[in-house]
Amino acid sequence: MMASKLALRPEKNVSKTKPPWSKHGGPAGPFDAIVIGSGMGGMTAAAMLAELGQRVLVLEQHYVPGGFTHAFKRGPYEWDVGVHAIGEVGPEAMLGRLLSTLTDHKLEWASLGGVYDEFYYPGLRIDFPDNAADFRANLIEAFPDEVEAIDAYLDQVKRVGRGMKGYLKSRAIPPSWWGKAVGKRLSKGAHEGFTKTAQQVLDETTDNTKLQKVLTGQWGYHGSPPSRAAFAVQALVSRHFMHGAFYPVGGAKQIAIHLLGKVAKAGGWTRVRADVEEILVEKGRAVGVRLKGGEELRASKIVSAAGVMSTALRLLPEESLGPWVDEVRELVPAPAHVCLYMGFKGDIRAAGAGPANKWFYDVWDTDAGLWDIPVEGDLPRCPVLYTSFPSLKDPTHDPGEAQHHTGEVVTFVPYELFEEWKKQPWRNRDEAYQGLKKRITERLLGQLFEHLPDLEPMLDFVELGTPITTEHFCRPMKGSIYGIEPTVERYACDHLRAHSPIKNLFFAGCEVGAVGVMGAMAGGMLAALAMEPRKAGALVMDAGKRPD
Ligand SMILES: Cc1cc2nc3c(=O)[nH]c(=O)nc-3n(C[C@H](O)[C@H](O)[C@H](O)COP(=O)(O)OP(=O)(O)OC[C@H]3O[C@@H](n4cnc5c(N)ncnc54)[C@H](O)[C@@H]3O)c2cc1C
Repeated sequence: MMASKLALRPEKNVSKTKPPWSKHGGPAGPFDAIVIGSGMGGMTAAAMLAELGQRVLVLEQHYVPGGFTHAFKRGPYEWDVGVHAIGEVGPEAMLGRLLSTLTDHKLEWASLGGVYDEFYYPGLRIDFPDNAADFRANLIEAFPDEVEAIDAYLDQVKRVGRGMKGYLKSRAIPPSWWGKAVGKRLSKGAHEGFTKTAQQVLDETTDNTKLQKVLTGQWGYHGSPPSRAAFAVQALVSRHFMHGAFYPVGGAKQIAIHLLGKVAKAGGWTRVRADVEEILVEKGRAVGVRLKGGEELRASKIVSAAGVMSTALRLLPEESLGPWVDEVRELVPAPAHVCLYMGFKGDIRAAGAGPANKWFYDVWDTDAGLWDIPVEGDLPRCPVLYTSFPSLKDPTHDPGEAQHHTGEVVTFVPYELFEEWKKQPWRNRDEAYQGLKKRITERLLGQLFEHLPDLEPMLDFVELGTPITTEHFCRPMKGSIYGIEPTVERYACDHLRAHSPIKNLFFAGCEVGAVGVMGAMAGGMLAALAMEPRKAGALVMDAGKRPD
């Protein structure tokens, strides 16, 4: 079993009781608030309101809650769809402390180890460790002539990363003239990170292109290549992992079990297969939602955690929209991805797998991270494989006698390549689609086994998830992995905040907070703060206190 930093007795709290959600039933209304979408953003907003004693109804279109934190099974294997490494979950981080409160201290985390990410570039292997000193030392060992540049870059990451805290606070403030003025002041520390791309900052710091690629090698965690990403998000991601990375004990599904359990305990409920078709707006105020099928549900406050862009373009009635929507429409979703879900039989650890993620870069050009796949003909090599072995991260995983283990390979692909099959039913798409999936699968497996050849004979199951699979189950715009792409333009758009332009409608999730699970959690927290500034503020202040 893997050594765990945070989980002392991991099996203790893994919930095996009836889940706190259902398609039908649940307590009768009225509810104080309706939350659309049960991803990390929606669950956090709902759990915070529940912690304040409110009854919240969470509506999720999928048959299982959690958004990108949900899990699915095939035979003896189970995978999460969007959780490989999460930082800031420990007692040293405010969000970690708040999450612990919201889950009644039952959600536990296992460390991925002293090294959480291993990078393999052509001719260079470098580890990303769980502390700033070792990270600096590893960089200097790989680039001994670049000490000054490394220190200058890490200083900027620290400064801008800290400044992002102020920016996030500013997202809970109403967009009135005074709110905007206060917000501007709060986010001042991150300002240079909003106006420059990561590449611009790198170019000002060093002309060693290999060092540049290593410093931004983790761009897959925010989905925007260095030439497009605002430096602020690159700094945020680097800071996020400064104390290492963690995995939820019992798998990512535990997050929904505990957060939605909190909602249920306060008299609220989560309805799955509840597909919101429209947000009801009367006299400029959000008053409820209409589900597909016609059922109408009302509450005095509505939170949309389905994405700001998605809410504006899919859920709000045309007549309720203002010019703000045009600004949101101009932003672009982060790239789409494919994921190879693998099941293995055997000792995968002996074959080179481990709890740390492995980034296999085929090229030094990290900007070429999007795999440009032709519709027909030979597939070019995939520029980067992000590889993860979830069963080795979870100390409660029981491989059984057959030694069942799981693995995943994720890489970015153009959404448009898959779009033509979107209207065909899931699992019943035509031969051309199956053929494309087969070619991609073979190429990814081939490249993976070049790096980890001993895994090949252990492969027992494989299935490829494509951007239209993601769209089918989680509904992001254009199959996006992280919502709106975190570019300079995204940070210039002032509408990505918890207060929507429509009265009583609030936004939550990663497009309000930041990319990733904890970024989406921050987005949920901001929605609760915008709705209940005094009471939720006290809750956040309390979580803000460091333990003795
Ligand atoms: C392959 C992959 C790997 C990732 N790896 C990591 C990682 O290692 N670490 C990390 O921190 N982050 C990772 N992420 C990102 C992270 O999972 C997401 O950023 C985060 O979970 C998003 O949360 P959210 O609440 O904003 O949105 P979502 O999780 O997308 O939730 C939105 C929810 O709204 C629901 N919804 C949409 N429309 C409707 C409607 N009309 N009616 C009802 N419900 C609706 C959706 O079904 C969904 O459940 C990964 C993501 C992916 C896809």
